[in-house]
Amino acid sequence: MALERTLSIIKPDAVAKNVVGEIYSRFEKAGLKVAAARMKHLSRAEAEGFYAVHRERPFFNALVEFMISGPVMIQVLQGEGAVLKNRELMGATNPKDAAAGTIRADFADSIDANAVHGSDSLENAAIEVAYFFPATDVYTR
Ligand code: GDP
Ligand code: MG
Repeated sequence: MALERTLSIIKPDAVAKNVVGEIYSRFEKAGLKVAAARMKHLSRAEAEGFYAVHRERPFFNALVEFMISGPVMIQVLQGEGAVLKNRELMGATNPKDAAAGTIRADFADSIDANAVHGSDSLENAAIEVAYFFPATDVYTR
C-alpha cells in the first residue's frame, strides 16, 4: 500500500460533544499521523464550495447549515492507505448502518449530524487538502 494523505473534518456535532481528542486517538492507534490541523468556523461560501459536488442533492442546504452551525476541526491524515483506512474508521454515512466501534457508530446522532467527514478517493483527497491547507502547511511525517 502507498503512503497517502486524506482530508478529515471533525464536524460541529462532535466538536460540541468534546470528543476531538478521542477521535484523534483513533487516528493515531490506526497508524494515521496528523500532518496538518486547524480549527475553523466555516463561512457559508466555504461550506458550499467544499460540498459543491452535492449541490443538486435534496440535503444540500441542510448539510451546509449544519456544517456552519459551529466550529469544525480540520486535519490532514497521513499513512499507508490513509484514504480507505480513514473511511473504515469513520463507518457508514448513516450511523444506524455504521459498524460497531466506528467513529460514527460511537459519536454520531443522525445522518445529518454524523461526526466526521473523510475524503472518498485519493483524487478527491488532494483537492480537499488543497481547499483548506497551502502545501507549506502540510508536514511530511
Ligand atoms: P460521506 O462521504 O459518508 O460523508 O457521505 P456523502 O459524501 O454521501 O454525503 C456528505 C454528507 O451529506 C454526509 O456525511 C451527511 O452528513 C450528508 N448526507 C448524505 N446523505 C444524506 C441524506 O440522505 N440525508 C441527509 N439529511 N444528509 C445526508
Ligand atoms: Mg463524501
